[in-house]
Amino acid sequence: MAYGLAMQAEEINAVINRRGWLKSAGLVGAGSFLAGTHATAAEKKSVRKSVRGAVRKSVRGVVFMVSDGMSPGVLSLAEAYSQLTRQRTTQWWQLLNNPSAARGLMDTASANSLVTDSAAASSAWGGGQRVNNGSINVNPNGKEITPIAALLRKKNAAIGLVTTATVTHATPAGFAASIASRGDEQLIAPQYLDRVDIILGGGSGYFDPKQRSDRRDLAGDFKKSGYQVVSDRYALLASKSPKLLGTFSKGHLPFSIDRDHDAAIAASVPNLAEMTQAALSRFLTDDKPFLLQVEGARIDHAAHLNDIGALLGDQLAFDDAVAAVLTMTAKHDDILVVVTSDHGNSNPGLNGMGDGYKESNQHFKNIARFKASHERVFGEWNAKPNGDAETIGSLVAEHLGFDLKKSEAEALIAILHKENVVEWNQQLEKPEGLLGQFAGNHTGIGWTGTTHTSDPTLLSAIGPQASRFSGIIRNSDVFGHLMELLG
Ligand SMILES: [Zn+2]
Repeated sequence: MAYGLAMQAEEINAVINRRGWLKSAGLVGAGSFLAGTHATAAEKKSVRKSVRGAVRKSVRGVVFMVSDGMSPGVLSLAEAYSQLTRQRTTQWWQLLNNPSAARGLMDTASANSLVTDSAAASSAWGGGQRVNNGSINVNPNGKEITPIAALLRKKNAAIGLVTTATVTHATPAGFAASIASRGDEQLIAPQYLDRVDIILGGGSGYFDPKQRSDRRDLAGDFKKSGYQVVSDRYALLASKSPKLLGTFSKGHLPFSIDRDHDAAIAASVPNLAEMTQAALSRFLTDDKPFLLQVEGARIDHAAHLNDIGALLGDQLAFDDAVAAVLTMTAKHDDILVVVTSDHGNSNPGLNGMGDGYKESNQHFKNIARFKASHERVFGEWNAKPNGDAETIGSLVAEHLGFDLKKSEAEALIAILHKENVVEWNQQLEKPEGLLGQFAGNHTGIGWTGTTHTSDPTLLSAIGPQASRFSGIIRNSDVFGHLMELLG
């Protein structure tokens, strides 16, 4: 192996890490890592200088990107689905194939369970301590933990939270709020005032005096404090304000599959990449340190619903946001991008279908026939007062592109009417679990359940100090890395 002058900083970091490993394994002596190569004295000197530069390389900003509830197998499903429907690769897939990007696994447990929820997972990242599921930066003894946004704020850093859930949902809140119960979103919203500069997602109701139980005009308070408050995509794209509160629906933003099949929604509700670009462009033109959290929130919701069409639609929308961030940061050598997930959920996978698995590909292609989320199918069902087996059958045929058998439609109706439910297991006594299984007969996709799982999640990082995120990372250690880099 020869060390050339053109060696990149990341490769040098990798050499240092590998050298550390070799040293600990007793394979090389201290100071000898250039020995035995064919490098000239001048080359060795240059590499040593680069190594020192790489070690010192400072980070001005971190973009921390979360595909919420993304089981590891989703990565390969999304790559195959992108090749099928868009004839191109995904950015996260490419990151794993990029030698200058760090690769690792995130150990996701919470204080009280091997299976975390999003509140405890984000608190571990944003507060540095594992807490019980359901809590946001309040430890098991009831003590409040100061979130990273409040700490970095004191260091003059800018903070951004971008999500497709309500902006007060667990994952953004874990970086900027402390509250015993994640459901108290009304109490989370005021904690962002003057603590977070850019807030984009859903959840307008938590800022609206008509919808808040205390009648506080929270949106008005944000305006008084210098924020521009926007509520549709046009206003977001036109805005130049450095402080921005944008909420584009009362609750979560729609699933991408529903957005993409409705021109009016697509025109008025921004997608994740657009919101991410709006936030990051502000931080890049400034020279302050910054922390931007970007969450593709509804991957998790689709997994809970065993809805592969909605899940892959939102995973590709998340991947588009990753692409936007990598493009925007390509010419900046002081921005670190971390891409990961907070926990697995229902672990979807493509099963071998048919004799010799020859029918798996055709089954997988049937996902592209889905034209709406299962949420929309069930929503339309609920809006029909006297729905029967025929009604649910026609909704599934219209929106998901396959025919339910009579016995399948009747089993679904029994659950929807809460009658004669056969409790085979936790998954199959829920309408979403049962519909997920019936859809799987046509798509080949199987699910382990309808809840979060304990799997470690995928972790990729690129940019200065990316190697901090290689190997197995305990979720609560992320906080220390972010504070060291930005604080
Ligand atoms: Zn979840």
